[in-house]
Order: sequence, then structure tokens, then C-alpha cells
Amino acid sequence: MTNLQNPPKLRLVSPPEPLREELLLELARLRQEVEQLRMEKDDLEIVLETTTQHADTIQEELQKSYQEIARLNCKLEGANKELEKLANSDGLTGLANRRRFDEYLRVSWQDLSRSGNPLSLILSDLDFFKPYNDTKGHQAGDDCLKRVAAALAGAVKRPHDLVARYGGEELAVILPGTGTPGARAVAERIRTAVAELGLRHPQSQVSAYVTLSMGVATLYPTATLDPAAVIEAADIALYEAKRGGRDRVAVSTKCCC
Ligand code: GH3
Ligand code: MG
Ligand code: MG
Repeated sequence: MTNLQNPPKLRLVSPPEPLREELLLELARLRQEVEQLRMEKDDLEIVLETTTQHADTIQEELQKSYQEIARLNCKLEGANKELEKLANSDGLTGLANRRRFDEYLRVSWQDLSRSGNPLSLILSDLDFFKPYNDTKGHQAGDDCLKRVAAALAGAVKRPHDLVARYGGEELAVILPGTGTPGARAVAERIRTAVAELGLRHPQSQVSAYVTLSMGVATLYPTATLDPAAVIEAADIALYEAKRGGRDRVAVSTKCCC
């Protein structure tokens, strides 16, 4: 039992010498660390103050950069569209070129083979165009081609129809989802439009004016049938139109609607 009258005497014992030294070292190290942290805090405060002061300028510069990027993106998009247009259009007539024709026929063929709708193709060829060039000159021949091309483009109404320069003085129209009666009507409309141009052609053996012969073919695309089949059929019909006297429309017998 503890005697409350005579409590035991507390003895203050100083730590042994090696332990004291260790503690002093630790203390010094901690002081150094605190000093280091204080310096870092001061630096951060300076950075914070500078950033806050310049925040508006930085924000403004950023805004300008965003606007410049948006402007350049817009320009790039325009240039890409222009490039695509150039790659797909014929330099002389401005119509779709052969590359675009092939691609459009392939894609339309695929789509129609799924939906089960027909595809018509009109292949047209200027009549006696060689003598036209030979007498009026190549420049006049080019001008004539351009005007005939514009007449074709004007005679074709539906947004999915494609008028293209197939080659030389041959122009073509792809009519997705159109059957024979519709395609024949479009071809006749083209014939009238070209006649209305009234381009004199004294060397033609069928008219006093520039005329076209046209072959029309209609097929129902399938996955196993090659789109070349419709070109072949329209080409045979075109040959028939030429053989039948030119300045006319012939419809392929391969036609199935
Ligand atoms: P046909 O009635 O049988 O079609 O006779 P054609 O004289 O039109 O046919 P042919 O194939 O003998 O001649 C086609 C001519 O078309 C050859 C060339 O003088 C002309 N031609 C083809 N491409 C161009 C072109 O880009 N510019 C010009 N100016 N003429 C072209
Ligand atoms: Mg030709
Ligand atoms: Mg010709």
C-alpha cells in the first residue's frame, strides 16, 4: 500500500547520452524540413499571386487560340470538300467524272440489291461529233460538250439521279429506283433539251443541229449480278440507236420492267 504521508520520491533521470544525441539530431532534421516547407510555401504563394494577376491575359490568349483553331478547322474542312469535289468532277463539263460514276453505280447497286428496286442507266453519245470538231475546231467542240452537259444536268430532276461524263463525248445518267418508263421519259426530256439548245451542226447527217443518241437499260440489282451488266445492256441499246438512224432513244431488250 502506498503511504500517502510519505510518497515515494520521483527521480528525474536524464536520458542516456547516445539517445540524447539522436534526439538532438532528429530535432535538427525536423527543423530543416520545416524550413524547407516554409520556403516551398513562399514560392507557391508567389506563383499563385502571379497566376492570379495574369489570369485574365491567359484567358484572353486561350480564347484567341480557340478561335484561331476553329477558323483553321473550318478552312481545312472547306479545302477538303473542294479537294473531294475536284477528285470527283470532270474538268471540262463540271459533271461527275468516270471515277464518281463507277463509285456511285457500285453503291447504288448495293443499296438496290437489298431494297429490291430497279436501276436504270442512260448512255448517250453525241452524233457526228468528229466532223463537228473537224470543221469548227476543238475549242468549239469543247464549248458544245459543255452546253450539252448542262442541258442533261437540267433535264434530270431527282436528287438521287447522277449525270456523269462517261468518256469523250459520251454522257451517262444513273437513275436509282427508276424503271423503264421513267428512264425512257428522262431520255426523251434530254433529247428535247439538247434540241432546244439549237446548236448548229451542218456536218450532221441527221439534223441541222447537234443531237444525241441514247441507250436505256433497266435491271434489278442483285448481290450476285455485276453492275457492269447494266452498262453493257445500255451500250448495246446505244449501238441500236446509232444503227437505227441516230438522234433517238433505244431501250435495251434485256430490260425486265
Ligand atoms: P457517231 O455519230 O457515230 O457517234 O460519230 P462521232 O463522230 O461522234 O464518233 P466518233 O467516235 O468517230 O468521234 C468522237 C469524237 O468526239 C472524237 C473527238 O473529235 C470528239 N471528242 C471526244 N472527246 C472530246 C472532247 O473532250 N472535246 C472535244 N472537243 N471533242 C471530243
Ligand atoms: Mg463516242
Ligand atoms: Mg459520237
